[in-house]
Amino acid sequence: MNFALQGDDVGIVEEKHYKLVPSDQIGADDLELYANRLTLRWRHMDHVPKEVRSKIMAAIRSRGNTTTEIPLAKALWTAGLRGYRKHWPVAGKPDFAWPGRKVAVFVDGCFWHGCRCKYLPRTNTEFWRNKIETNKQRDRRVSQALRRDGWTVIRVKECAVRKPSTLARIAKALRNERARANVLRVAQGHDAPDRW
Ligand SMILES: [Zn+2]
Repeated sequence: MNFALQGDDVGIVEEKHYKLVPSDQIGADDLELYANRLTLRWRHMDHVPKEVRSKIMAAIRSRGNTTTEIPLAKALWTAGLRGYRKHWPVAGKPDFAWPGRKVAVFVDGCFWHGCRCKYLPRTNTEFWRNKIETNKQRDRRVSQALRRDGWTVIRVKECAVRKPSTLARIAKALRNERARANVLRVAQGHDAPDRW
C-alpha cells in the first residue's frame, strides 16, 4: 500500500476505494488518477475511516525498515562494521547482532517506541498512549533479559540512525573488553562464532 505521511496527516488520493500514494513517489498511474480529477488530500489521521487507518498503520509497520534498518545497515557497511546477523534468535530478535561479541543493536521506530520527536494522535490518545507504553515496557524487558545474559544492548532511535554518534556507540561496544571476552569464549568453543 502507498500513502504519504506528514506528522499525523496522511495523503490520500480520494477515490471510491481510497488509493493511497506517497507524495514523493507519484507515478504515471497516479497522474492518470489526477487526470480523472481525483485529488490527493491531506487529512488528519483521526479523520480517516477506521479500516483505511488500520491499513495505513500496518503499512507503517512494514515499511519501517526503510527508515530504520536499511540506513543503519548502510552506515555499518561504510564504517566497516560487518559480520552482524539480522534478527538473531535471542530475546527481542535484535535487528543487528554480533553473537560472538554479544552486541545487540535495535533500531526503534520513533512512533511505535514513543520517541519524543513524535506526537500522539489527537483522538484515541489513551489507546495510543497505552499501546506505545506497552511497547516501551517490552523494549525494557528485552534489553534487561539480554543484559542479564551478558549482551551489550544498544537501542537506536529511528531519528538518530544517521548520527555519527550512533555509529561511534556501536563501534565502541564492539571493541570493548566485554565483547572481546565473549570472542575469547567463542574461541574456546562456548558459543556460536560470528563472522567478524
Ligand atoms: Zn525520534
